[in-house]
This record gives sequence, structure tokens and C-alpha cells, in this order.
Amino acid sequence: MHEEIPLSRPDIGPEEEELVLDVLRSGRLSMGPMVEEFESLVARRVGCSEGVAVSSGTDGLHLVLRGLGIGPGDEVITTPFSFIASANVILHVGATPVFVDIDPASLNMDPDRVESAVGPRTKAILAVEALGNPTHMDAYAAIAARHEIPLVEDSCEALGTLHRGRQCGSFGRAGVFGFYPNKQITTGEGGMIVTDDPRLAAACRSLRNQGRAAPPAGGSVAGLGSWLSHERLGYNCRLDELSAAVGVAQMRRLDDLIAARQSVAKSYVTRLMHRRELVLPTIDSRSELSWFVFVVRLAAGWSREERDSIIQSLRRHDVGAADYFPCIHLQPFYRDLFGYREGAFPIAESVCQRTLALPFFGQMTDREIGFVVQTLELMLDRQNLSRD
Ligand SMILES: *Cc1c(COP(=O)(O)O)cnc(C)c1O
Repeated sequence: MHEEIPLSRPDIGPEEEELVLDVLRSGRLSMGPMVEEFESLVARRVGCSEGVAVSSGTDGLHLVLRGLGIGPGDEVITTPFSFIASANVILHVGATPVFVDIDPASLNMDPDRVESAVGPRTKAILAVEALGNPTHMDAYAAIAARHEIPLVEDSCEALGTLHRGRQCGSFGRAGVFGFYPNKQITTGEGGMIVTDDPRLAAACRSLRNQGRAAPPAGGSVAGLGSWLSHERLGYNCRLDELSAAVGVAQMRRLDDLIAARQSVAKSYVTRLMHRRELVLPTIDSRSELSWFVFVVRLAAGWSREERDSIIQSLRRHDVGAADYFPCIHLQPFYRDLFGYREGAFPIAESVCQRTLALPFFGQMTDREIGFVVQTLELMLDRQNLSRD
């Protein structure tokens, strides 16, 4: 077997191909029925009244913060252990990210630290299901409610995940999904805002569409006199019909896509749980994951250098591997902007050094999972020898 096993791979079938062809042949490539269908499929799944499709998860988060009126002088509490976009959007609106350290089990923000970080300038909590884990989302929602500030849920890694029977994306004032090809569903590039707040939804629709006013219900979008009337400084964050068509087909298959991911995750857990060098994902019994990635952590005492050397060796054996996620506050421009140094958030930093993402996608075969596990075990055995 010497096909490379990638870190992730989208699952695209004939349904996606057919719908994309339908759109191409329809001649309507933007602002049409596919986007609307995609919005209602995602909103309904999450249990929210509104869905606003956008061109990426990052754009979705950006528009939500703008729609909430967050800007210069405001603070937003967030996690240092995430993909960088979740903190960047706070900078995009001119506000200041206030990082809090994480809980070492779920890898999400420690709720007690969130509570104590709330101050007079706090205008929102931006929570992330890190690596798809939804633990504490209910706690953040309670803290946000107590302080009368909005919770914005970055659910880009958690479409279809349940926490205490509730769909991720529905815990806060708004939730945002991303559809980059490594996510649970993809549209190539794309994202979706979900909310029960009609005013916020209307603001986001306007912001994504150059600041235009909403067209009257049932009206034809392109023929309106309001097309060149702009109420606010907007952006072009629209999702096109071709991408939305892929999303519609993916949403129709969502339960099957999730079941396949759950089965691959289960197989990894079964094969790796005896390795005392590894900490496997810690999932609360009240959560049901749709699984974004499969990330293991080397046990305490293992160094960043050992982790990096395992990643390099896996890649040499054609096994995709990555260091999800380096701490955001230690990224070069965050250090420059805010003067962060090692030691600022010790739990997140200690976790970041030892995490290791393995190839993970729903169509992984048993053989592929077996090869990844066998190769990883070989690397661990080698490292053990060189440590003794
Ligand atoms: C993927 C991701 C995003 C960004 O989504 P894009 O669609 O790539 O812009 C934001 N936050 C988190 C936590 C993500 O994993």
C-alpha cells in the first residue's frame, strides 16, 4: 500500500454533481433558490429560525460581530486554543480579544475563567467547539445571559454535534458554520450564520450584500430599485449558487456523513486506547460528536520536539499528520500586537505542544485506519527506545 493517506478528504458523490449541473444549466449562478434551500436546510437542522449563507466561516463570524455592533474599545472573551480565524475576526472589527485559558479535558475555555474575565468593556463571549468538542457550551450561555452580553458560537467544527440534546450552533445569539473541504460538510468555500434573532439576521444579510436593504418578501431580487441603495458599509460575502448546490446535496446526506465519521473515530479509539503514551479525545457522556478531526495528545512529559518528530516520520510514511492547533496568542503577529510570551496561558500551551492530528475522513477504509495506527505505533515504539 503506497497511496498517501491525506489528513482529510471531502466526500462528494453523484448527488452533488447532479445539483451543480442543474445550477449551471439554469443560468442562475448567484442569489437564487439553491442558497435559500441551503439556508433553510441548515437552519432547520440546528433548530434556528434563520440561516444566512456566506462565503466562508470567517466571514460569517465577522458579519455577526459587525451585526452586533462590536467595534473599537470593546473586548470579546475567547479561547487561545483554536484555528486562528476565531480570534482574527475580533481584530477585524477593531475590538480586543481577551483570551482565557482552557480546561485540560475538553480543551474548551474554562467556564470559571470566562466568568472572571467579564468586565465593563466585555461586549461578547466568542466560544469555539475546539476540535469539535461541545463541552461547556451551556455554561457559556448561562454566563452570557447572567451578564446580558451575547454568546457567539463558532461552530465551524461542530455541525451536527449535540450537547445535552441541543444542536451546536444554537447555544448563543448566533452560531456560525464553515464549509471548507475538511469540515463535516463542504461547499468548497462557504459558511452559514444561524440565529433566532430576526434583526441580527437582517443585518447580516445586508452586510453580506454590500449593505443593501433586504428585498421585500417574494420580490425578484435583481429587478428592484433598491439594488443601488446602500444603507450601511457592507461587504461581498455572498455564497454562489454552485457552492450552495454542493451544500444542499451534502445536507441531504448529513446523517450518513456523520455516521461514517463516527465509525472511523470509534475504530481509532478501539485500536489506540491501550497506548499509555496517548491521551485520546475526552468526550462528555452528554455529548454526541459529529467528529471534525481525530486528534490525539502525547502524555504529559513528552516534548514538542518528540511530537514534531513523530509528525515528520508519519509524513515520511505517507501518513498525513498535523499539529492542530498552535496557540493563537503565540502566533507572530499576536505576540507583536499584544506582547504575549510563553507562559501566558500555560494549560493551552502545554496541550498545543503535544497534540497530533491523524488522517480523518468518513470514507477511510479499515485498511487505511490500520495502516495509520500501525505506523503511529511504530513511531511511538521508536521514541520510547530513544527515551530509555
Ligand atoms: C474552519 C474554521 C473557521 C473558518 O472557516 P473558513 O470557512 O475556513 O473561513 C473558523 N473557526 C474555526 C474554529 C474553524 O475550524
